[in-house]
Amino acid sequence: MAKKATGKPARRLAKAVKTMARVARRAARPAAKAKKAATPVKKAATGKYVYFFGNGKAEGDRTMRDALGGKGANLAEMTNAGLPVPPGFTISTDVCNIYYKDKGKLPASIETEIKRNVDKLEKAAGATLGSTTNPLLVSVRSGAKFSMPGMMDTILNLGLNDAAVEGLKARTSNGRFAFDSYRRFIQMFGNVVLDIPKDVFEHEFEAVKHERGARQDTELDEAALREVVERYKRVVRDRTGRDFPQDPHQQLAMSRDAVFRSWMNPRAQEYRRIYDIPDHIGTAVNVQMMVFGNTGDRSATGVGFTRNPATGANEFYGEFLINAQGEDVVAGIRTPQPIVELENVMPKAFRELRQITKRLEKHYRDIQDFEFTVQDEKLYMLQTRNGKRTGYAAVVIATDLVAEKLISPKEAILQIDPESLSQLLSPGFDQKEWKSIPLATKGLPASPGAASGHVVFNADDAVKWADQGKPVILVRRETVPDDIHGMYVSQGIVTATGGMTSHAAVVGRQMGKPSVVGAGELNIDEGGKQFTVNGKTVKEGDFVSFDGLTGEVKIARVASKPSEILQVLNGQMPEKDSDIYRRFNQILTWSDKFRRLGIRANADQPDQAELAYAFGARGIGLCRTEHMFFGEGRIPIVQRMILATTEADRRAALNELLPMQRGDFYGVFKAMHGEPVTIRTIDPPLHEFLPKREELMVEIAQMETKGQSGKELDKKRELLHRVEQLHEFNPMLGHRGVRLGITYPEITEMQTRAIIEAACQLAKEGIKVVPEIMIPLVGHVKELRDQKAIVDRVAGEVIAEQGVRVKYLVGTMIEVPRGAMTADQVAAEAQFFSFGTNDLTQLTFGFSRDDIGKFLRIYQDKKILDKDPFATFDVDGVGPVVRTAVELGRKARTDLKLGVCGEHGGDPSSIHFFEKVGLDYVSCSPYRVPVARLAAAQAGLSVKVGD
Ligand code: ADP
Ligand code: MG
Ligand code: MG
Repeated sequence: MAKKATGKPARRLAKAVKTMARVARRAARPAAKAKKAATPVKKAATGKYVYFFGNGKAEGDRTMRDALGGKGANLAEMTNAGLPVPPGFTISTDVCNIYYKDKGKLPASIETEIKRNVDKLEKAAGATLGSTTNPLLVSVRSGAKFSMPGMMDTILNLGLNDAAVEGLKARTSNGRFAFDSYRRFIQMFGNVVLDIPKDVFEHEFEAVKHERGARQDTELDEAALREVVERYKRVVRDRTGRDFPQDPHQQLAMSRDAVFRSWMNPRAQEYRRIYDIPDHIGTAVNVQMMVFGNTGDRSATGVGFTRNPATGANEFYGEFLINAQGEDVVAGIRTPQPIVELENVMPKAFRELRQITKRLEKHYRDIQDFEFTVQDEKLYMLQTRNGKRTGYAAVVIATDLVAEKLISPKEAILQIDPESLSQLLSPGFDQKEWKSIPLATKGLPASPGAASGHVVFNADDAVKWADQGKPVILVRRETVPDDIHGMYVSQGIVTATGGMTSHAAVVGRQMGKPSVVGAGELNIDEGGKQFTVNGKTVKEGDFVSFDGLTGEVKIARVASKPSEILQVLNGQMPEKDSDIYRRFNQILTWSDKFRRLGIRANADQPDQAELAYAFGARGIGLCRTEHMFFGEGRIPIVQRMILATTEADRRAALNELLPMQRGDFYGVFKAMHGEPVTIRTIDPPLHEFLPKREELMVEIAQMETKGQSGKELDKKRELLHRVEQLHEFNPMLGHRGVRLGITYPEITEMQTRAIIEAACQLAKEGIKVVPEIMIPLVGHVKELRDQKAIVDRVAGEVIAEQGVRVKYLVGTMIEVPRGAMTADQVAAEAQFFSFGTNDLTQLTFGFSRDDIGKFLRIYQDKKILDKDPFATFDVDGVGPVVRTAVELGRKARTDLKLGVCGEHGGDPSSIHFFEKVGLDYVSCSPYRVPVARLAAAQAGLSVKVGD
């Protein structure tokens, strides 16, 4: 098992404290407000830090997630609702931050507050910590504001020691149970608090099982478990040089601190990075009276969902284990039973569970993910939260909840993560091809979607292969939270053990990764990097494909085909045959009612434009004309234009390009059905259209050694000469954008002519067109003035020639900081601005977007940057540049149209910023359009323009 968090707790703490201190400093900066940031740490030592729940009353409730964490807030809420929740108390997230700030110590006042709550808990439980007649046992549970499944630590059965275990035995007359609980406690405490690797304990446990000929854990009797306890205590002594701590109060303090430390363990940090959860919010600690699912056959423990989290179907869903404790279900040690079977074994508890969970769903008005334990036929609720679900399920559940009148369309929109919609667009297999391939094995369908790729056997390899651009399938016996980075880069995940609520399943669904779990026929040799299944051996790098909706796994490379939604949009499937399309469309139609921002797409080709329109884009925000230069048969003409040494030659080449560009624009305009289309004049440095210098040199050398000469060779030499002339040290800051149009005005002339001629043609056909001609990379108003004069002159000529009326706009991209800072001057010439946030980010940070990959990861590890500023708009630094341009621009021209066409236009959290700053529209790639529609609605509902 990969163990990253090795080293003595003290050393780990020191490291964590350092990181936290950095985090706290950043959090303290007023502008550094993360998206989901909670209220900052309160300094006052006078505040309330511990919140009790029990006896039908709690000091907290569901609204207090910032202080109590999700788990604590919901335990309080359930207690207040009169549900059977074991009593306990929550130590607030503020204490976690104090713990880090004070370098691992807590002020005496907080220690006293905790002690008072322990006393209160002892009273409520009618038992005493460490008692030899009636000992109180508790769990110490982590729980942050946002759920981070399995990322942090929890300790069960705390309070046991050599004397108390006898007390527990006497009270329950169940020695097996008492010692089973004690050995679990030592193992968890040893691992979590004392940093002893799990397998050291596993090893002792297996040895005893082996000696006694036991196959299942449950077959060990009291005597065997007493021996396990002795061995475990020896492990602790050998590993730490100290005896296992016997004082329950000391056990409690040590465990609490360990939970605080687990907030900063590497996997938790990685998880927060992926899910955009700020580091400074900290975790709460819940101390709760234990209830026992391991007292015998009349006890059980389980987890479940009120609906199917993979498909969204309205069915009771989950798993349980008889005679077990909580962690056994998720750990995949024994294979659990489907929850519906609980009805046969413990009908009363089942009925109550069903009734309670229905009530919870109504109360929270969302699908619930719950934990329960039955102790001697009595049901206890241990956790509830809004369930994580696949994108597919999110859409199904939200539309169902509206139909059931549990929520309104507005709430449905706020409930769905916009990214889910892109999951629904991901491809599936061609069913005919898929059926023709023999089945290798079948597992549990944990997360839908089709995946195909090279097999890898651990998370680090997954990252290595993925970095080389190869699709990978991560195959593991079972995933653990440490695997998160590998899961993230995989096409899909397959595991051999574990149920529908195992780690792989939960995380797979959340990430929207197709996943198949519990494929028990896979015989995986993780060390040897291969697996066998039904006599076949599959090695690292071989191809495997699977369908996460059916659980089928096949050993082959299989091409995928468009999702159902795309098939409907393409006309390959009638709308009435696709339930999911109708739901998807419903969500988007609702979204449109709540958004102010317009949605456009970045598209260069008519077919892209058509798809974008079908997805709901109303306009093109960026049509990159140079992409058209790479089209069939065009490159030689473009090269001739570049190589031309006289204006006459250049014009001749441009004249050849003219009809081609006109045709392109005609198609794009037509696909947009009268919506505005923004066309950008040529942008990249010209050398991008020529062969590489090195390649040319090799070719020339080869021709020379072969003794070739003549025209062919002369041409190559001439080309090389021009390539060398065009060479720039820093092409991104070089001869590109508006600078090209200024040096070669005939290019702008040709492009304008192509645009306006196409528009006139359509106008003659009676089709409405709204061309917007956009000049890139403007930093000085005079650059724009120069180009605008050309555009207006040529457009005037064409319109006169054609004798039709066509209205067009001239505007600019705002992507050079100087252009933004002088936006009032620029707006005097520009009828619209489109923020090119890729270049603007590049030029504001001074990061080359093509080279940032070399150091971004290090920046993120060192917490210098949270996120890739090219993926998520940098509100703090680039934000003010945009804001300034908006304000200056609108001051100079009140009807200035404002949009964004960088990658950020399709990123939900960036869209929130664009809403706030008051842009008119966002433009993104066609596939992101649905995401942007939903995100814009959410932004419209939750932020006020001008905030
Ligand atoms: P996680 O966040 O990893 O699920 P939890 O704090 O929820 O961690 O606890 C881990 C497991 O232990 C869960 O299955 C939970 O139901 C169980 N558990 C926690 N506290 C208690 C308790 N007081 N009595 C019985 N089982 C518990
Ligand atoms: Mg839990
Ligand atoms: Mg640009």
